Amino acid sequence: MNFSELALAEPLSRAIAEKGYDTPSPIQQAAIPPALAGNDVLGLAQTGTGKTAAFALPMLHRLAATPKHRLKISTRALVLAPTRELASQIAASFQAYGRYMKLSVAVVFGGVPIGRQERALFPGVDVLVATPGRLLDLVMKGSCDLGHVEMLVLDECDQMLDLGFIHDLKRITGLLPKQRQTMLFSATLPPAIEELAQRYLRNPVKVAVQPAATTVERVVQSVIHVSQTEKLALLANLLVSEDVASTIVFTRTKHGADRVVRQLAAHKITAEAIHGNRSQAQRTRALTGFRTGEVKVLVATDIAARGLDIPAVSHIFNYELPNVPEQYVHRIGRTARAGRDGRAIALCAPDERPLLKDIERTIRMQLDVQALPPNFRDLVGLTAKLIKASPAAADPPREERGSDRSRGGHSGRDPRAVVHADGRGGGGRDGAPRREGGQGRPGGGRPQQGRPGGGFGGQRTGQRDNGNRRSPAGR
Ligand code: AMP
Repeated sequence: MNFSELALAEPLSRAIAEKGYDTPSPIQQAAIPPALAGNDVLGLAQTGTGKTAAFALPMLHRLAATPKHRLKISTRALVLAPTRELASQIAASFQAYGRYMKLSVAVVFGGVPIGRQERALFPGVDVLVATPGRLLDLVMKGSCDLGHVEMLVLDECDQMLDLGFIHDLKRITGLLPKQRQTMLFSATLPPAIEELAQRYLRNPVKVAVQPAATTVERVVQSVIHVSQTEKLALLANLLVSEDVASTIVFTRTKHGADRVVRQLAAHKITAEAIHGNRSQAQRTRALTGFRTGEVKVLVATDIAARGLDIPAVSHIFNYELPNVPEQYVHRIGRTARAGRDGRAIALCAPDERPLLKDIERTIRMQLDVQALPPNFRDLVGLTAKLIKASPAAADPPREERGSDRSRGGHSGRDPRAVVHADGRGGGGRDGAPRREGGQGRPGGGRPQQGRPGGGFGGQRTGQRDNGNRRSPAGR
């Protein structure tokens, strides 16, 4: 199948051709025709599969085919997404695909002043991409009217539930016209999502991209046993000795991520952190630098990194093992994408051994144990000296550190006792639109689900089973 067979409006075909897309990805082949026909769609797919275009193109086609005057503070299409980054990414896709249409796209999320968003919504827009909390704030302020929405997308629905957005979603859908087209996309289909789908979708066409098992199979995985205090020396050494083109280093906590960035700087290794305590401008800068290749090392917490479309990562370092074993699969699924190879190296401290066992049980294989570098003692000594000589590498005073230390990090406790260390559940949710700057909403309470792998190589199937099942593939 090629895009011309989908008979999309001419401005869309032109924009797609310019972007260099020639064949629709499997999720696009499956979802676009029923969506164009006006059906509701339940899509099981994740970032990296081309799912944004799978819902954006039919929506834009309908907007192009049925032009209407914009109504003040209203929108015709509404896309809800769990995080600021994902919302921005989706809005950018609408803008790119709709560049030859007279299209007005707005994106709203928390953590930034609301005034500019109110002004953007005032004349009315065609497409509004929003995180749920900020959207409700805007509705409550009388700056947004959802009564004219014709098309609704709930994107990364499982993550929205994980982040405790269920009540917001219910409130928002209660404000929408009953007569509308609804598309729900989720990487997994746990019972809570099935229930949502039953409630909000009418005779949906179910489309799914089968996990591309090869994604994770192509990742060469290993573990190095090392004490927590010596991890930085090891990481700094691996970053220069391994053939690292670009890498994501995962930590469990926001402050852990900041500390790694500071201490790498003492080794003259430039890294940027991405997590929920960073301002929007800092997060955008970090991601842009990483995408352009200016920054080779991105230090991230799990939730901040989810849903992001970051191509060409050669290495994943699990600087701290995740509390939830499925998260390991998500992390390493960020390498070996689009036919490339990738490496994933876990740095396992003695108190993380139980987590390693959980991971190995989940992926049904034992990680190869890699030895410490031969001159490791010298490296540890050197690292200690460099950090001591660099005042910037020291931890900031306690009061500047915020709260996540108390919820995670390495304190010698059984790390499994520290669930949701990087912001879910307890306080502000990392990466989420922290209501959107601090107070957490009630946590979703659901453990992280195993996500299937992505990539356009996945086969299409009619249906996939319950996402609670642990899947060895990742995204
Ligand atoms: P998504 O899963 O929507 O985040 O998309 C993943 C990436 O694939 C994005 O960089 C898109 O620009 C790209 N993409 C989407 N559809 C296609 C296609 N049909 N052909 C080539 N690239 C695509």
